[in-house]
Amino acid sequence: MVKTAIVTDRRYLKHFAGRAHPERPERVRVMIEMAESLERAGLDFCPPREATLEEIALCHTSDYIALVEKTSHVDRYDFDADTHTSRDTYSAALLAAGGALTAVEAVFEGGADNAFAIVRPPGHHALPNRAMGFCFFNNVAIAASWLLKRGLERVMVVDWDLHHGNGTQDIFYKSKNLLYVSTHQYPHYPGTGSLYDMGAGEGIGYTVNAPMPAGFGDPEYLRVFDELILPIGRAFKPEFILVSAGFDCHFRDPLGAMEVTETGFEQMARRVRRLAAESCGGKVVAVLEGGYDLEALANSGRAVLEEFGREADEPLQNPPRGDRVMPIIERALQSVGKYWDLA
Ligand SMILES: [Zn+2]
Repeated sequence: MVKTAIVTDRRYLKHFAGRAHPERPERVRVMIEMAESLERAGLDFCPPREATLEEIALCHTSDYIALVEKTSHVDRYDFDADTHTSRDTYSAALLAAGGALTAVEAVFEGGADNAFAIVRPPGHHALPNRAMGFCFFNNVAIAASWLLKRGLERVMVVDWDLHHGNGTQDIFYKSKNLLYVSTHQYPHYPGTGSLYDMGAGEGIGYTVNAPMPAGFGDPEYLRVFDELILPIGRAFKPEFILVSAGFDCHFRDPLGAMEVTETGFEQMARRVRRLAAESCGGKVVAVLEGGYDLEALANSGRAVLEEFGREADEPLQNPPRGDRVMPIIERALQSVGKYWDLA
């Protein structure tokens, strides 16, 4: 039986981003209700701990951390046009980063085979010194840094959120210890993530972007996994895989124009788990990022959690089609692919 830790807490509902804001407390509420209704063996609900300031400082500057702390003393602070705080935002953000850490600790220490951290606020747009795109602290980047500090040398982040994770890319842009791969609608917010963002210095080749036009769905996403992400992942041989699990590329999502279905998320999760089974004993932690249609969010989250409970050798379904994504894959293989020994 596969053991999956679900790290979540109703305290995540306390962060309020503003009236009619898409990143709303109900997102985590429907995910908790979905998880509690799952009829799956091996689920273990774990409360998150708060991240320490030292852990936040693995990815953020002390001045910026102090600024976010200060927002807990005012009713509202606007970091930008769509990134707002309430008095509980700072503590929720510490708990969100801590939730990612709790999930990683459970898998790293062997208490669970894999884990899903159902947290908010999300994290992948957060830069070392700047909040943006509904994000304050970069939960996935902090969890990855914690693993690297524990002595791992190869951590992989798979970011299938609708948006490019500019914060995560930025934090590890010059690192060869973290392979960042992202599928995202492009051009779209936040504007980064072209094929030619490939890393720098000794990190050249360790940032892999698959920017895709509006309207692409399961066939194109799965083909990117099969022909770009998995081959480079196999060459990298990750010791741990983190997923920036955003569900805003679902066809129902109001913020995006991609066409991914629940089956697509299940099949992307299956591919990530296949890679993890081959290279690191199946160690995968998913951390919630975006996803703004409540029904699509809960159904997609369920598909991933059910997939996390299956044996990792389930056959990959949906044989690749999606020919229209091939020019993007080919250009990626010609650019970033040349840094990898791809069999
Ligand atoms: Zn997103």
